[in-house]
Amino acid sequence: MPKLYIETVGCQMNMLDSELVVASLRRQGYELVTTPHEADTILFNTCSVRQHAEDKIYSALGRLKDAKKLHPHKIIGVVGCMAQKDQRLVFERAPYVDLVVGPGQLHQIPKLLDEIAAGSGPQMEVSLDRTEGNRLEVERSFESYDPLRDEQMRPSPYQAFVRIMIGCDKFCTYCIVPKVRGPEQSRPAAHIEAEVRKLAAEGCREITLLGQTVNSYSHTAEGRRWRLSDLLERLHTIDGLERIKFVTNYPLDMTDDLLEAVRDLPKVSRYLHVPVQSGSDAVLKRMTRCYTVSEYREMLARTRAMIPDVAVTSDFIVGFCGETEEDFVASARLLIEGRFKNSFIFKYSPREGTKGAELFADDVPEDVKRRRNNDLLALQTTISEEDNQRFLGREVRILVEGPSKSARKLDDDSPQVQLTGRTTCDRIVVFEGNRRQIGQFLPITIYDANAFTLFGTVVTHHVGPEVYAL
Ligand code: SAM
Ligand code: SF4
Repeated sequence: MPKLYIETVGCQMNMLDSELVVASLRRQGYELVTTPHEADTILFNTCSVRQHAEDKIYSALGRLKDAKKLHPHKIIGVVGCMAQKDQRLVFERAPYVDLVVGPGQLHQIPKLLDEIAAGSGPQMEVSLDRTEGNRLEVERSFESYDPLRDEQMRPSPYQAFVRIMIGCDKFCTYCIVPKVRGPEQSRPAAHIEAEVRKLAAEGCREITLLGQTVNSYSHTAEGRRWRLSDLLERLHTIDGLERIKFVTNYPLDMTDDLLEAVRDLPKVSRYLHVPVQSGSDAVLKRMTRCYTVSEYREMLARTRAMIPDVAVTSDFIVGFCGETEEDFVASARLLIEGRFKNSFIFKYSPREGTKGAELFADDVPEDVKRRRNNDLLALQTTISEEDNQRFLGREVRILVEGPSKSARKLDDDSPQVQLTGRTTCDRIVVFEGNRRQIGQFLPITIYDANAFTLFGTVVTHHVGPEVYAL
């Protein structure tokens, strides 16, 4: 039985892609192992969003150079976004790599591995660049093969990612995604429903719908147009499914019908990730985000007015080309005003092949980027902590996901264990419980909180005399 090791970096899309690759290879008889030493085939599922993610992969490849000399039959593959972006450059930088496959060609991996094992030498399959054909041709070169699943690769047996669209057409000037993931394409609602029904029948209780701009979802079929709000309504009827999340939202597409669906459908999480990127109109304009700060503010106010208990999270990029101290202060002000549950803060990383890298100089020094990054992080941590304090003494309902991070480190398999789960507004809750509670929805009373975690105890309802009287 050939042994497969796969390492995944990057976003939830990549986690789902790895799940699908593993599923297709298991069907071919591969066994999944947990270290590269035991493996016959080592795959890296890569990310290109920032330079750091690419550097990590190239240094991991560097460490395999000697192993490959000692074991020439080990197959080394680079798949995903960096494979699409760098293509032959991967072979030039690491000549012992056998396989390069872009994210739109992952279904070819089993066949390509067979060819390599049969001695046909290094193989590469990538999709067309956006300039290499008309829209339809480029779209066709990005295929997704989502119905294949592997339960063991999921975050937990009770949770699954479901892709509702691929690609992106927004072309923010800093971002490599539209190039490496191709044109935006929404999947038919009926396919998505069938996939979710199957997951629910297998015991999955929570799904997260994935798309780069998930709220731009639009598909015409069955005689009508399906928006994300329509899809949520359709999935809401599926028995066994209890929670539906979706990421990532584009601010301009946060329409009232979607907010109404989040407000009115109890299975839909009251959690919205809506990245703003900057609090300065001048910077947003250079980023081609297509909205102003006041339009983002209006969206936020409308969202909170319609769903008062919603949790909103955001992304910020610091040190984008030409960002002045005033621009940065405007971002800090927006972060404070926005009262986000959490924000992901990134230092701008120029990406070759994007408009940003072509048109603007990366002129904010590294130490300034680092300082701005740390300043925003510190502000966000204070806000998150204050926000979490509001939960002290309150009862929340969580889906129990499994042992907490610290319990996993202990390597103890006794039934009593520290467990972790999430609220409907995506807050992490840690409590002492029993392994058989994993996968259940439980009421928890919160007694402590820091910026990242709520701590609680399971609510036990005492049986009173009125029950005995029945
Ligand atoms: N599609 C999503 C959106 O529009 O928000 C997110 C896609 S991207 C993979 C996730 C985040 O990475 C972005 O929101 C942005 O903050 C950050 N990002 C993207 N390109 C970047 C770059 N070149 N340098 C630094 N951060 C970047
Ligand atoms: Fe990148 Fe912008 Fe598309 Fe998000 S919306 S994936 S940031 S181009």
